[in-house]
Amino acid sequence: MATAKPGQKRPLGSSGGGPPAKKGFWSLGLLDSMKDPNLQVEKDDKVVVIKDKYPKARYHYLVLPKENISKLKALQPDHLELLKHMHEVGERIIKEAIGEEGLSYRLGYHAVPSMSHLHLHAISQDFDSPSLKTKKHWNSFTSAYFVDSKEVMDQLEKEGKVDTSAKNPEAQLKLPLRCHVCKKELTNMPKLKEHIVTHIKKS
Ligand code: AMP
Ligand code: ZN
Repeated sequence: MATAKPGQKRPLGSSGGGPPAKKGFWSLGLLDSMKDPNLQVEKDDKVVVIKDKYPKARYHYLVLPKENISKLKALQPDHLELLKHMHEVGERIIKEAIGEEGLSYRLGYHAVPSMSHLHLHAISQDFDSPSLKTKKHWNSFTSAYFVDSKEVMDQLEKEGKVDTSAKNPEAQLKLPLRCHVCKKELTNMPKLKEHIVTHIKKS
């Protein structure tokens, strides 16, 4: 699994979705955001929940451990309880945010994250957001590149470590654009975005 080191590549989140990447250290941005009162949603003794700065759906949160864990590969068997807690907190926050809007949601990790410091995505499945712009964005949340939190916890429990290389992450990002609901293939992002909103339940 590639490591997101300062200066190596731009984050999935910021390409075209926000300000230009800061000189090389964009991949450490989550550490600042964890302390940013405008982004922070909740914290306890183990985790901090923030709003994703470039949300890819109507509701998109990141749950980060306070413990300095750089990535999935760094997880040890005794982190399982922490992952369960992150999952529970993320699930409560996203459910509360969605409320009665009738949207589904997923909790999971990118197989190869752009940003340093372990983070669990809690994201509604409308993908109705101006920050969702590129094929990479789309495939990172709708292909096997997005690894369900439950799968990560199962792997850690059974194998004592987490390794996402079997997902063939780079190939996932190159898959054709396909609607996550009806599986229809679309030729470009504007067409995909126009299509996916038709699946959002009108309330
Ligand atoms: P990934 O590392 O691929 O799992 O995704 C990183 C996520 O962090 C993306 O959804 C980005 O939109 C989001 N993001 C990027 N920079 C920041 C930041 N400085 N603060 C909060 N969220 C961010
Ligand atoms: Zn569809």
